[in-house]
Amino acid sequence: MGRVYNFSAGPAVLPEEVLQQAADEMLDYQGTGMSVMEMSHRSKAYDDIIKTAEKDLRELMNIPDNYKVLFLQGGASQQFAAIPMNLMKNKVADYIITGQWAKKACQEAKKYGKVNVVASSEDETYSYIPDCSDLPISEDADYVYICENNTIYGTKFKTLPNTKGKILVSDVSSCFLSEPVDVSKYGIIYGGVQKNIGPAGVVISIIREDLITDDVLEGTPTMLKFKTQADNDSLYNTPPCYGIYICGLVFKWLKKMGGLEVMKQRNEEKAKILYDFLDQSKLFKGTVRKEDRSLMNVPFVTGNAELDAKFVAEAKAAGLENLKGHRTVGGMRASIYNAMPKEGVEKLVAFMKEFEEKNA
Ligand SMILES: *Cc1c(COP(=O)(O)O)cnc(C)c1O
Repeated sequence: MGRVYNFSAGPAVLPEEVLQQAADEMLDYQGTGMSVMEMSHRSKAYDDIIKTAEKDLRELMNIPDNYKVLFLQGGASQQFAAIPMNLMKNKVADYIITGQWAKKACQEAKKYGKVNVVASSEDETYSYIPDCSDLPISEDADYVYICENNTIYGTKFKTLPNTKGKILVSDVSSCFLSEPVDVSKYGIIYGGVQKNIGPAGVVISIIREDLITDDVLEGTPTMLKFKTQADNDSLYNTPPCYGIYICGLVFKWLKKMGGLEVMKQRNEEKAKILYDFLDQSKLFKGTVRKEDRSLMNVPFVTGNAELDAKFVAEAKAAGLENLKGHRTVGGMRASIYNAMPKEGVEKLVAFMKEFEEKNA
């Protein structure tokens, strides 16, 4: 059986070249006579892997020297707790709610302090990004939190909120490395890697150094204290070694592709193929306000649940997998991350056209 076009929201498609290289190195990593999975995280070979991964990521994202790069475990969801534990000095934070992931992060933060929801798009099922140019930011807020690309609803912040000088914390799980970003605008920019970078089990957190201190909430577990991880270069305990190795291979692949400016162009080109089709289709409809559309996650519906299910089943039979929408939204969702080739999107649109003609 050959490989399918996998539109999963995450864990998601990885570059075939990377998987092939991992396969080639599976039994004997570069003459060490062992797999990366079998290697001590304190070995010279592994030290090179994690250091090179960090160096390549810094180069790709142009990360300033006053930011630490941490490779952590526990997924993005664990950061929902770690962030307030490390940053809530005044025990106040402002959250912008643009979907379920921001909402979950907000609920978690409520365990540790006072949380203000300063904007939300819940009133229209998170189908847009609220105007964040002049929000009632709390005077004593320790930080302002956003989920930059909303994996489930398919929206993306095209401009960052005006935080009125407060620290911006952003979850970029589903748009990580999809386009260039200015890291210096963030206090923390972080994400689980299983959407756009690598295998589940690694979360990368890029944190401004002055936010990494011993002044954390009482009771913060050693492992969740950023300083523990930063002081030990992500090697306080055994890190998710193999996952970090795969991330490293993806960073090399991204560099070879030409970096994030090129990825942005490719992603825009791919998304345009699908959105242009949706905009003229008589059967399928995009669910998101045009100006807020994500380049990564594209939800759409026919308006008829039975027809949606038929579409998903027939697409699967045609080698176009994981197009079912999130269980809370219904319809369809095509996730078209960095590693989804343009041909995959073209095949999808051709299939949608055919389906539309047959079911008109
Ligand atoms: C998937 C996802 C999460 C949750 O990630 P886990 O690693 O499963 O905890 C959080 N935020 C966003 C934006 C996501 O897409």
